[in-house]
Amino acid sequence: MPIQIPHWRPEAPLQKLTLPWLEAAGVELACLRLDLVDPLVSGNKWFKLAPYLEQAAAIGAQGLISLGGAHSNHLHALAAAGQRFGFESVGLLRGEVQQTPTVDDLQRMGMQLHWLGYGGYRARHQPDFWTPWLARYVGFQVVGEGGLGLQGARGCSCLLAMAEAQLADIGWPDFDAWWLAAGTGTTLAGLLLAEQRRQVFGAQAVPSGHGVASQVATLLNEAGASGRSFQLIEAARAGFARLDEPLHQFILETEQASGVPLEPVYTGKALMALRDFCKSGQLARGSRLIFIHTGGLQGRRALMGASADYTQV
Ligand SMILES: *Cc1c(COP(=O)(O)O)cnc(C)c1O
Repeated sequence: MPIQIPHWRPEAPLQKLTLPWLEAAGVELACLRLDLVDPLVSGNKWFKLAPYLEQAAAIGAQGLISLGGAHSNHLHALAAAGQRFGFESVGLLRGEVQQTPTVDDLQRMGMQLHWLGYGGYRARHQPDFWTPWLARYVGFQVVGEGGLGLQGARGCSCLLAMAEAQLADIGWPDFDAWWLAAGTGTTLAGLLLAEQRRQVFGAQAVPSGHGVASQVATLLNEAGASGRSFQLIEAARAGFARLDEPLHQFILETEQASGVPLEPVYTGKALMALRDFCKSGQLARGSRLIFIHTGGLQGRRALMGASADYTQV
């Protein structure tokens, strides 16, 4: 059965966040909680996925096929959307067969899984990579790794209006800047397509040299918006998806102080980078920022080790 367009436009709540280092710097922060839009179809991945789903429905696709790692937030959101909205999903996984909590969920949510090994996964950018998969899964729509692409970006542009609509609720006449984690930079690019005047900071969860800046520039170019400026902040610390002890401590302390759950790959690193930015006096006193909580909490279970007491699934 072809995919139906899901008529679901979730709104993420905007909440004020108080933490001692924010007060010390005289900075006010509000958090746009994309992690709260749904327990399963969660975070920025839903917003990146929505335009692909609409396109898939418009062309009468039979299902969606994508790829990712054994902790992938993207595959998790795709599988959950498939289960929720009744379409088939296929996930091509990096590496050798392993059973992570994420993989358990993908199977339970009915996603067809194929393990590509590492070499097989590296071949994903080759022009004929998808041919055998689309011969096997006829009529399926391909979604790029992590929802990368202009379509994915466009799905995130609504975050600006979503936050602005809630400013009065938290007593803010306006705010000065955005702060969010960047992996592929798709979410950042989507925000920039809508944001005309405020500063946008992207805390890079991948080491510099992974091309985030050029990816964002390419997306903006494709959209005819190449003039937009943004600032990337180094936040990868020990490397992508690596958890060091100061980060571990920061996450536990911040969760306890704020009540907002974080995970170590993106949101924990992004917020810690903001703390360091505040501490080094780079934000004027009286600044108001919105931090986008991009979700990813399903990955927290496997990645926080013994302290993984917060589980959302
Ligand atoms: C995927 C992901 C990101 C990165 O988003 P991009 O659009 O690829 O930059 C940030 N935060 C979380 C929790 C994610 O899962």
